[in-house]
Amino acid sequence: MRTMDEWLASEETGAPFSHCLCCKVPLVEIDAPWLVNKEIVREECVLEYAICQPCRDAVTDRLSEESKEIVRSFLEHKIDWGERMKEFMLAHDLTDRFAACIACRTPREGLNGFGISALFDSGGSLVTGALPLLICESCIAKMTASLSEPCRAVWRKFLAENFAGPPNDSGFPGFL
Ligand SMILES: [Zn+2]
Ligand SMILES: [Zn+2]
Repeated sequence: MRTMDEWLASEETGAPFSHCLCCKVPLVEIDAPWLVNKEIVREECVLEYAICQPCRDAVTDRLSEESKEIVRSFLEHKIDWGERMKEFMLAHDLTDRFAACIACRTPREGLNGFGISALFDSGGSLVTGALPLLICESCIAKMTASLSEPCRAVWRKFLAENFAGPPNDSGFPGFL
């Protein structure tokens, strides 16, 4: 079984993420929290990055209030936070959070694809609250189905600016 450190390390290097994807500054030198996001499809990591809070805010600032409200409303209403938090508290291991989708509760083994998100504080300690979490691709698709084209364009631009290869606008785990 994978440890939380293994889950949150870069698949590419096998080491913890060290730099912000966007500003390229070493994460430990940034006086702000950072997020680690990964997207895994059929056991293969197709997207992974760490992004510092200021850079993440710079991306989400370009989204309309309406789009942010769509995502917020999904997270609020389609996830039973009371139940999830109770489970998280009783869990023996933090990695139990990655056993199933936080929204539809489908076990990870039955998923074609999913995203994971984790938050680190400015000192590099994992923050345990609503994150870390795992959300499946069909829930991400439901969450993002009604997002506007300008919002999708922001995400595509973010991917194009930061990653080589064909743009993939299937997932928005970075919003979490
Ligand atoms: Zn940054
Ligand atoms: Zn799901």
